[in-house]
Amino acid sequence: MSPAYQIVDHAYDVVVVGAGGSGLRATMGAAEQGLRTACITKVFPTRSHTVAAQGGIAASLGNMGPDHWTWHMYDTVKGSDWLGDQDAIEYLCREAPAAVYELEHAGVPFSRTPEGRIYQRAFGGMMQNMGAGPPAQRTCAAADRTGHAMLHALYQQSLRFKSEFFIEYFALDLIMEGGECRGVIALCLEDGSVHRFRSHAVVLATGGYGRAYYTATSAHTCTGDGNAMALRAGLPLQDMEFVQFHPTGIYGAGVLITEGARGEGGYLTNSEGERFMERYAPSAKDLASRDVVSRSMAMEIREGRGVGKDKDHIHLHLNHLEASVLAERLPGITETGKVFAGVDLTRQPLPVLPTVHYNMGGIPTNYHGEAVTLKDGDPDSVVPGLFAVGEAACVSVHGANRLGSNSLIDLVVFGRAAGLRLGELIKPGTAQPTPPKAAGELALERLDRFRFASGGSPTAAIRERMQRTMQSDCAVFRTEATLSEGVAKIDSVYREMEDIRTTDRSLIWNTDLIETLELDNLLAQAVVTMHSAANRKESRGGHMHEDYPERDDANWMKHTIAWFEGWGGKGGGVRIDYRPVHDYTLSDEIEYIKPKARVY
Ligand code: FAD
Repeated sequence: MSPAYQIVDHAYDVVVVGAGGSGLRATMGAAEQGLRTACITKVFPTRSHTVAAQGGIAASLGNMGPDHWTWHMYDTVKGSDWLGDQDAIEYLCREAPAAVYELEHAGVPFSRTPEGRIYQRAFGGMMQNMGAGPPAQRTCAAADRTGHAMLHALYQQSLRFKSEFFIEYFALDLIMEGGECRGVIALCLEDGSVHRFRSHAVVLATGGYGRAYYTATSAHTCTGDGNAMALRAGLPLQDMEFVQFHPTGIYGAGVLITEGARGEGGYLTNSEGERFMERYAPSAKDLASRDVVSRSMAMEIREGRGVGKDKDHIHLHLNHLEASVLAERLPGITETGKVFAGVDLTRQPLPVLPTVHYNMGGIPTNYHGEAVTLKDGDPDSVVPGLFAVGEAACVSVHGANRLGSNSLIDLVVFGRAAGLRLGELIKPGTAQPTPPKAAGELALERLDRFRFASGGSPTAAIRERMQRTMQSDCAVFRTEATLSEGVAKIDSVYREMEDIRTTDRSLIWNTDLIETLELDNLLAQAVVTMHSAANRKESRGGHMHEDYPERDDANWMKHTIAWFEGWGGKGGGVRIDYRPVHDYTLSDEIEYIKPKARVY
């Protein structure tokens, strides 16, 4: 262990990395099982990115009309373009109502119907009667601040069960031994001390990596650190080519306008004032699933029907809604429109554009939250001691395209599942495994490498080249040409890390060093994403390949599994394999939903 660092040792039954909705639910769950649980987070828990979630959380409560969990399951399978694992989707949709009632009892102040029930709004791709329609009002909302309300309730509950928080600690790497996870190494951003956490299990709940792109609705903290830690531990990521573009990011600012805005009656128009979604999705119209709406908007712009002086965006109308609906149901959006677009929503349309929003890919897990890999060809082999939940994980319930409001429910259902599994596997208070002798040494070598890097390329310059490459070559529409150019460009950006210059070497918060560590994490995921996209010769969900415009179930109904082998600045080393989609359900109550054409 490097003598240059002050090392503080800790021992817990469980260490959760991340305090967003998924990390807090897993923390609360593990602590509730009597396990000594620590939660490490680089930002204050209630500032985690979940705080930005506006529209709501999906569950078939049936408060606003008929609904059933099997209908929710059908929509999720169809939304995933048949890449989701149906055992996991069944678990998600069946458990969803109980998970929402649990949140209600934990203190989430849901909006209410006149009868006092939880208010539910329509969201894209959510239908009644196994997809036949009409739209289902399934998304439970606390006005347009649902994530904010969830984080506060879950943080309080985690404290109630006596979990311990390490706030503004930056996790550097996993401690692995013989393929098993034994803990994690983290840096305290307040004083620069290094902390070595030993534990029976680590839960990665570090969120998505939207910041690999130039324009994203995600916070600057969304750098997918846990995904990169898994890659550095020699583990694969799954389905990274599936990146969701949300139809309504504010033009120029990228800030999100929730799909709940269309759920409350908002609609899109082109330069001719036409409600063009009626042509692309005659039945669901503006509430078709996100990949479909984003692609339709991009087509309108391409064909010269965009709005504005450069004809490069689309209008979202809410100005026909009653002012009271905006004030009561969409107060945050009304303010966002004013601040970021200078638009008064009661009078004018908002300028919007598809914007990077969500990562369907991540650390492959089973529906208990246990990380899996392809050990000896076994597609479901568990990595002992390692769990992943939330956007960092790929369970996979979202497959090739996530339905709006299905992420928040994924966080709490699988956060809870991980807690339950940890309770089954770990006996509270048993001695933690002794960490390997040199535990954490590699993490500190990496820290030193970037801390004292004195090359010619500033962190911000490399980051911008990565973001622009991803934005131009791995976007809504992809072709052989853009993807092969993208692979060459992103590999070369990765090689620039050899020449990086870190100007501020202090170990505390907001320094160039932390941003460099995050950039290194982002770049590995960007490389894996680009290579995985270049390898998939079909179109499915968020992956629209113009040279292969059809979904190809015979050859491509399989998950991409990708390892990054380019550490140390060499770049370009991505190994790709595939694993079959789970084509079975957990119970007799629903049969495997067979693939068919996806029309809305
Ligand atoms: P996050 O909430 O991103 O939390 C990540 C945590 O990991 C943080 O606590 C962070 O501090 C910690 N962390 C990360 N790296 C490290 C590290 N190196 N060391 C220590 N800690 C670390 N979904 C819905 O279902 N409904 C919605 O209405 C909705 N609205 C959205 C609105 C916006 C603007 C956006 C961008 C997304 C929205 N989503 C919505 C998606 C959803 O909010 C996210 O997918 C979800 O909140 C992710 O939660 P998470 O727990 O996985 O991670």
